[in-house]
Formats: sequence, structure tokens, C-alpha cells
Amino acid sequence: MNEENDKLPVDSPFTPCEEAWGARVSAFTDGELDENERKAVEEHLALCERCRQFRAAIENLKGITMNMKFAAPSDEAWRLYWKGIYNRIERGIGWIFLSVGLIILLCYGLYAVFTEFFADPEVPTLLKIGVACAGVGTITLLISIIREKCFRNKNERYREVDL
Ligand SMILES: [Zn+2]
Repeated sequence: MNEENDKLPVDSPFTPCEEAWGARVSAFTDGELDENERKAVEEHLALCERCRQFRAAIENLKGITMNMKFAAPSDEAWRLYWKGIYNRIERGIGWIFLSVGLIILLCYGLYAVFTEFFADPEVPTLLKIGVACAGVGTITLLISIIREKCFRNKNERYREVDL
């Protein structure tokens, strides 16, 4: 670390008391100093108002730079982001079709089982409607529960891989 004592003429928050201290404070905020240097800077900061302001100013600037990085993600990040959205839409559509298909198949199966029951003219219509509703409701709930479980598992695995 050099010890030149050049006094800086400009009076602004970006001006430390000495150029040498400025360089050290800058390295300090970047975490580039060893134990002894860090202590020296901390002691100086406790005494020197100019360098405290300088440190606040460069930390503020660093925060702005980091925010700008967040605002402009890399091409790779965008690619993963769109791939993620596409996968989610694709799976969503897949699940909708699968659910509808299963509901139709199961209803048709149940219909076949209950054909005699529903065809029987002795059974009151209201009872037939009741049995049909209960059957459809049960199947729908069952599929909904299975679907939710499968989807959640897949989603969690997916999150670990891509994000
Ligand atoms: Zn200073």
C-alpha cells in the first residue's frame, strides 16, 4: 500500500481526505483487504468524516450498478426464463387434456356399469340424477387431488433444476 499524501482539491462526497485512503476505502468496500489493513481502514473511518462520506458514496454507487445488472439479465437467463414459462404452459395444457380425457373415460365406464340401473324404468329419475352427480363429483375430486400431487412434485423438481 503506498503512503503518498497527495491532498485532493475537489470538495465532493467522492473525495476522501487523501488519495491513498480513498484507494484503501475502495478496496475495503470490495472486501479486498486483509485483517490488518481492514482494521486500519476501520480506525481511520471512525476518525475521518470525509472518508466516511466517500465510503457511503461508493457503496451507494455499487448498489446502483448491481441494480442495473439485475434489470438486464443475460441471454442465458432469458432463455431459461422463457423455457420455464413454455414448460409450465405445456404441462398445464397437458394436464388439462389428461384430466378431461380421464373424466370422460371414467364417466363412460361408470355409465356402462350403471346402464342397467339408469335404464331401469322402475328407478325414479331423481335417484338416477343423484347417483350420476355423486359419481361425477367423486371422480372429479379424485383426479383433482392426484393431479395436484403430481404437478406439485414435478414443479419442485423442476425448480431445483432450472432456477
Ligand atoms: Zn480520511
